[in-house]
Amino acid sequence: MTLRLYQDHVYLKECLSTVLAITNDNCLVLNKSLFFPTGGGQPCDLGTINDLLLAEVFEKSGEVYHRFQKAPPFKVGDEVTCKLDWDLRFDHMQRHCGEHILSGIFFSMLGGVNRGFHMGNDYMTIDIDLPAVTMETALRVELASNEVIWSDVPVSVRYFSRREEAEKLPLRKEITVEKDISVVCVGAEANPADCVACCGTHPSTSGQIGLIKLLKIENYKGMSRVYFESGKRAFLHTVKEHQLISALAEKYSADENTLGAKISAQEDKNQLLRQDLQKYRELLIEREVQALCDATSLPSEEPSSSPQVIVKEYEHLSLEDLQQLAKALSAISPNFFILIALNEKALLISRAINTVPGAPDFGGLIKANVASFNGKGGGNSSSARAAFQSLADLDEFVQHTVGLLIDGVEPLKSFA
Ligand SMILES: [Zn+2]
Repeated sequence: MTLRLYQDHVYLKECLSTVLAITNDNCLVLNKSLFFPTGGGQPCDLGTINDLLLAEVFEKSGEVYHRFQKAPPFKVGDEVTCKLDWDLRFDHMQRHCGEHILSGIFFSMLGGVNRGFHMGNDYMTIDIDLPAVTMETALRVELASNEVIWSDVPVSVRYFSRREEAEKLPLRKEITVEKDISVVCVGAEANPADCVACCGTHPSTSGQIGLIKLLKIENYKGMSRVYFESGKRAFLHTVKEHQLISALAEKYSADENTLGAKISAQEDKNQLLRQDLQKYRELLIEREVQALCDATSLPSEEPSSSPQVIVKEYEHLSLEDLQQLAKALSAISPNFFILIALNEKALLISRAINTVPGAPDFGGLIKANVASFNGKGGGNSSSARAAFQSLADLDEFVQHTVGLLIDGVEPLKSFA
């Protein structure tokens, strides 16, 4: 069995060990190990053995395995130098112990028990078995948790051979194993900030955690899922947020106190601008309807009973605007309209419903032809739309369509 140095010598960063076994999946078993194996929601330690990088450390059937990417060049009995990746270990200790304190305070302040823990790369979560904990309540828990950090109380680990012995401590959660139990207490055993069975690695005092920062809360299966970060990562998170707020404040010529109000004022202004813009669009469409109707019934022209094909390009109107324009036109004009939204490389083809007996089916026309011009589209018999990969494709499609339509109707009349 490997002597687990990380249990009693959590600050030991280097040691000499002897190789006890080598497995055919590139793993070493050592007589003593610095490296914590993945377990209890805490990721494994990493580091080097004789300067070879470890890929993973895990536990199987009570033994610790040190795995490498490739077969390691060792033999049983070799003495090897183990070096711990201390930055990674300390990061795990700060995060893991932060989770202890936050869970302990949720328990002591609200009676909520941590039923799930996740330590991800971007944040950690705990699932507290209380429904709908509000942010306001959670912020009180956050403050009390940070007060535990600032009081810099000892974090102690005690080992018990029997469950009954361990259960004399004020545990936050039931113990589920019978023997070889380690119990971690943050603060004095008589009145701890947290006390729970745990096999992970912890700093010797709470002050080393530095900071706990709550990020958000959401409902999860009738519980409250709390997102948070602790240690250096919590600090870096606040740095990132401060940079973001500073950049926003500069953009809005505000400071942290006035930023919210300035953003709201800008939103109100934008809302008014959007309303104005909508009014002008409607006016523009109204005028365009009139212009198109006037232009297609010039006094010099012979009055005509057959529909004309009107093609017009628009630089500043969207396909949605053209839809409104076409709707208004089809109510008062017997003509066929091909309206082009240049910015979107798209067009709309429209006519009044039942203009003339045997009027063309525009949806069918687009479906049958558009793919040959690298376009996509469809619609109903009196109104259809299509979008193209290029304006050249669109232009060719228009010429082709006009060619189809003028057979039986008046020649093309374009005002583009
Ligand atoms: Zn722990």
